[in-house]
Amino acid sequence: MALRIIIGLALTVIAFAIAGRRLWWLYRLATSGQPAPERITALREHPGRGAEAEVTEVLGQRKLLQWTVPGIAHFMTFWGFTILLLTLIEAYGDLFSKTFAIPSIGHWAWIGFLEDLVAVAVLVGIATFAVIRLRSDPKREGRKSRFAGSHTGAAWLVLLLIFLVIATLLVSRGAQIDTGDFPYAHGAFASQIVGHWLAPLGHGADSGIETGFVLAQLAVILGFLILVTYSKHLHIFLAPLNVLFSRRPNGLRALQPMRSGGQVLNFEEADPDTDVFGLGKIEDLSWKGMLDLGTCTECGRCQSQCPAWATGKPLSPKMLILDLRDHAFAKAPYLLASSDQAREQLPDAVKQEAQRPLVGSADANGVIDPDVLWSCTNCGACVQECPVDIEHIDHITGMRRHQVLIESEFPAEAAGMLKNLENKGDPWGMGSSKRTEWITELDFDVPVVDGAIGADVEYLFWVGCAGALEDRAKKTTKAIARLLHTAGVSFAVLGPGETCTGDPARRMGNEFVFSMQAQQNIETLNEAGVRKIIASCPHCFNTIANEYPQLGGNYEVIHHTQLLAQLVRDGKLTPVTPIEEKITYHDPCFLGRHNKVFTPPREIMERVPGVQAQEMHRCKERGFCCGAGGARMWMEERIGKRINTERIDEALGTNPDTISTGCPFCLVMLGDAISAKKSSGEAKESLEVVDVAQLLARSVALPAPAGQDGPGPA
Ligand code: SF4
Ligand code: SF4
Repeated sequence: MALRIIIGLALTVIAFAIAGRRLWWLYRLATSGQPAPERITALREHPGRGAEAEVTEVLGQRKLLQWTVPGIAHFMTFWGFTILLLTLIEAYGDLFSKTFAIPSIGHWAWIGFLEDLVAVAVLVGIATFAVIRLRSDPKREGRKSRFAGSHTGAAWLVLLLIFLVIATLLVSRGAQIDTGDFPYAHGAFASQIVGHWLAPLGHGADSGIETGFVLAQLAVILGFLILVTYSKHLHIFLAPLNVLFSRRPNGLRALQPMRSGGQVLNFEEADPDTDVFGLGKIEDLSWKGMLDLGTCTECGRCQSQCPAWATGKPLSPKMLILDLRDHAFAKAPYLLASSDQAREQLPDAVKQEAQRPLVGSADANGVIDPDVLWSCTNCGACVQECPVDIEHIDHITGMRRHQVLIESEFPAEAAGMLKNLENKGDPWGMGSSKRTEWITELDFDVPVVDGAIGADVEYLFWVGCAGALEDRAKKTTKAIARLLHTAGVSFAVLGPGETCTGDPARRMGNEFVFSMQAQQNIETLNEAGVRKIIASCPHCFNTIANEYPQLGGNYEVIHHTQLLAQLVRDGKLTPVTPIEEKITYHDPCFLGRHNKVFTPPREIMERVPGVQAQEMHRCKERGFCCGAGGARMWMEERIGKRINTERIDEALGTNPDTISTGCPFCLVMLGDAISAKKSSGEAKESLEVVDVAQLLARSVALPAPAGQDGPGPA
């Protein structure tokens, strides 16, 4: 008896010492990052949001269950291990008394049943994981496997350890049944089966097996504890924390302002020598950023949805996080050294790691290759999928900010866009005088705000640079204006007073240009007394609705598809002319995934007579990017397949007559891909991409001519 107590407790003390030391090291590494007081403040101000996330995402496993089979397997394993903590208590109790039972409940048959049930559920769960891993073996599937780039050896080791935890548990319980030490008379069905198998060995052997397997079970669990702290399974401890401190509702929508030392950076006072300008070094990450790195489970869900990865580019959001994590761990001795002298004593490998640039080509030994960094379209698929709420876009933007603002290193072709924004207020450099040309092509008046918006004007129609200046997008603008006019909605535009929202500059990393553009627009809007805004471009919509409040611009912003759907619902717009076409709708990332506007555009299509809507396989939350976001619209796409071509290939799979969307950038990108397909004979000549507003305008009846009842011709 004494020996088993000594062995059991000694193993425990050793394991806790090793795991505790590692956790302390991880804590020190995380807190060597920048402060993030906004995370604490957000939690203090909205404790309910954090609690809800813990309940739905950690306990309810909501995001994991979006992938049904692996989700259920993980759910069973998570809850199995949680409930099996009862058996851990029983194992420790068994060290001291072979007839130990948990006080009060320790003889209840249903507890014994529940323990066995979850033990079997965990076995089913890990068998499912094993099958999933075998079927998606990166050696066979290459880039298509979501596990490509993950540490698969460690994953198999963990599956083996989980199996051993359950196997030793069931054998020890089976032996206990045979020796008469088992606390549950009924219910523990799986243990009884094992007991039946062991019974022929006799009481003496079973007593030895009981002792040996209780100790073996503790040894396996304690070994597992150590492995967890040294592997991707760290997420068992870190995921609840990461979920708690993540942005709500998620890391999509708004980019965060630049911060230095936890405070929002003021460009007028900032000093590049002393302030943090984006992510130039791993220690420029905040502790929340460091927590992100440690929490990654290497599941590859993000990678499987990334349009850059899917089209053969070097960016995988998973590998980006893993590369940053590996660098942080390798540089940790340098970061945690107590003095310069201590740093001098470090091994050369650590000192070399500390000198690596965070962003740099292979020649420069960079941690993240520039081609990785600049491939991101900010589509948000990674953030949407990540079961532990890692905020990939924040990290990518942080590195872009440093590259643009400090290193002046970014794709050369984007320089023209930035210059045009600064000098002319739009990415093409066409100038403000051109912004009202579309109005002259209409047969009714569109008021242009001059000073204050009229008291009788309900909405400001924010046209956007593309909507005002790009020929294809101008058709959407005119359709929207016509529909609003038909429905009797009072609206006005800023015309030459409108300038780019700054979104392309911000997404590219030039926070300075963004803040200039944004402040100018907010000043114009506030002086005009604007409260309600219709935006036709999802990028403008996202920026004004979600990012301008950071700079004091607070407006009620609605996307044109939302308003048009409402007008149709209210009977103010009546689609009557049939459009007998098969139409597939492409979700713009900044409307759909970022802002969850999925239904209104589809609702409009449903109301147009004759339209046969056909969804693409990747739609709604899993919609596939057109390739324009993240300022990629103004960069060359030199690596891999073009993202817009990939999307059009998918659309062509539905054999559509028309492709619809709700974004001027998507319109341009998909339109370009269709033109290329027509040239190669892969798409029919009549195929076109249109905004949902154009479809509606084609179908809506015009107001009845004076003196007539009922609608006039469409
Ligand atoms: S935002 Fe989109 S493109 Fe960028 S890493 Fe995530 S999934 Fe890939
Ligand atoms: S970042 Fe999130 S989704 Fe991607 S591999 Fe890590 S845990 Fe999975």
